[in-house]
Formats: sequence, C-alpha cells, structure tokens
Amino acid sequence: MDCIFCKIINKEIKADILYEDNDMIAFSDINPIAKIHVLLVPKKHITSLAQATEANSDLVAKLVLASKKIARKLNIDKSGYRLVTNVGSDAGQVVQHLHWHLIGGESLGPIA
Ligand code: 5GP
Ligand code: ZN
Repeated sequence: MDCIFCKIINKEIKADILYEDNDMIAFSDINPIAKIHVLLVPKKHITSLAQATEANSDLVAKLVLASKKIARKLNIDKSGYRLVTNVGSDAGQVVQHLHWHLIGGESLGPIA
C-alpha cells in the first residue's frame, strides 16, 4: 500500500520516533507548525476518524490518551497543547492514515 505512515511504521522511511508500542507510533512531524509537533498514529491503517468504528474504540481512546504521556515526556503537559485530527478534504487531510497532531511548545493562538 502506498501510504507514507505505513512505510514509517514498517521502517521503510525514517522518522524521529518518540514512542512506539504494538498498537501505535508517535514521531515528529517533518514540517512542524510549532516548536513541538508530533503525530500520533495507529499501526492499523484506518483512513481517518470517519472510517473508525466502535470496533476501533479502544484504539482511538489509546491514541488520544497517549497524548498525555507524550506531552509529559516533552514537558508541555503544564504549558498546554492542542490535539487535532483532520478528516477529509475540507480539513486539509493530506495523509490518508488516521493520525492526531500534538502541537505545543509555544502559544498557539486561536484554532483558526
Ligand atoms: P494531515 O494534513 O494529513 O492531517 O497531516 C499530515 C502531516 O504529516 C503533515 O503535518 C505533514 O507535515 C506530515 N508528514 C507528511 N509526510 C511526512 C513524512 O514523511 N514524515 C513525517 N515525519 N511527517 C510527514
Ligand atoms: Zn497507512
């Protein structure tokens, strides 16, 4: 499958990996929009949150809650951060593999 995040998961493409277990991986965004910009990605290929179902609820919860652990590791748990998932074209989703952006390390301003 021609999916860049699957290639990162399979170690066909290098990434700056901050956390990994059997279900998920977290790595630095190649084009950060803030001082800290990490992507939280399930190893299972799901196109976006729109394609996730009740059967994926444990995985979705795990990824969302993993943001806390990674924020603590990056020392932004007290200063705050933003967790975003883009769904589809109006949101500007570029990579068609479910992921959350964990953004912080500086004041982010309004969301739009
Ligand atoms: P989307 O717009 O799909 O929500 O976000 C995709 C994100 O993936 C973008 O922020 C983009 O910079 C990042 N990205 C795209 N290709 C790569 C890559 O090869 N490596 C890494 N680390 N990030 C990537
Ligand atoms: Zn994929």
